[in-house]
Amino acid sequence: VPAARDRLRIAIQKSGRLGEPARALLASCGLSWRESRDKLFCYGETLPVDLLLVRDDDIPGLLADGVCDYGIVGRNVLEEFAAERAGGGKPAVSKEIRPLGFGGCRLDIAVPDAWEWEGPQQLQGKRIATSYPGLLAKWLAEQQVEAGVVMLSGSVEIAPRLGQADVICDLVSSGATLVANQLKPAVTIMQSEAVLAGPLQPFSDIRGELAQMLLRRLDGVLRLKDSRLLMFQAQRKEVPALLELLPDAEQPTLLQVDGADTLALQALCHGAMTWQRLEDLKRAGARGLMVLPVERMLA
Ligand code: ATP
Ligand code: MG
Repeated sequence: VPAARDRLRIAIQKSGRLGEPARALLASCGLSWRESRDKLFCYGETLPVDLLLVRDDDIPGLLADGVCDYGIVGRNVLEEFAAERAGGGKPAVSKEIRPLGFGGCRLDIAVPDAWEWEGPQQLQGKRIATSYPGLLAKWLAEQQVEAGVVMLSGSVEIAPRLGQADVICDLVSSGATLVANQLKPAVTIMQSEAVLAGPLQPFSDIRGELAQMLLRRLDGVLRLKDSRLLMFQAQRKEVPALLELLPDAEQPTLLQVDGADTLALQALCHGAMTWQRLEDLKRAGARGLMVLPVERMLA
């Protein structure tokens, strides 16, 4: 049983893809730290919440050992750790507390361009190179496919060209690395993003209150992350079709502008307001479209 502590300790990636966004997210929850970012340990200033800057692979283990209370890590890394433990008959020790909306990627099986993909059965008897042997083994078992797993900690994508493996199971975001290696995605094993990972049970000491406060703030920040105030005008008859394009809009406000036919519409939208979406809205009759940032909200 870990000793009672009166400060909360969060492990994040020291550098790499998730380090900076993780730190920024925690900062937007009102946290700040005394030490500079090249240190291993950052002492919390505004609140007793400290950071430990580590390699992402170490985060699930630090959580399991109780060295850290929370961690920000890719779901892929967290689930791989759990899958390897489960494979060894060990129980789960931590869980995903919140998805965080950045670091998105997929764990895909990718096959040589020349393959005609027919389904998982095609992998029977093949050699698959991966850095995720636990997740791959679990998926293969679910598919009732027997294949060889070649564990590589990096440069998985060149394994087929080197003759080390027939196909790979690797993280994909844009797919550019696959294309450069004459591979193509065949099937997705897992959708991943950065997550807040934490203990299975709530804390029984002062950390419990700290954790609750942090989660409340985090929920507020995550909710507003992609939120924008959308404003435009449209003819009354176009409004139903326009609202169908805004499934993520919260309580749209409609105001009559001139006569009965032109309406001004304003809505808080929680999904990303891409150019594509604005063009779709314009085509459906929206005029004078404006997208405004939302700084704070108190429901
Ligand atoms: P470390 O030095 O901390 O071990 P790393 O090289 O293992 O770093 P990164 O490449 O920074 O890790 O990736 C961290 C996480 O970013 C991945 O585990 C994954 O969740 C996420 N990610 C998002 N897109 C990609 C991608 N295209 N390739 C790899 N990881 C990605
Ligand atoms: Mg790593």
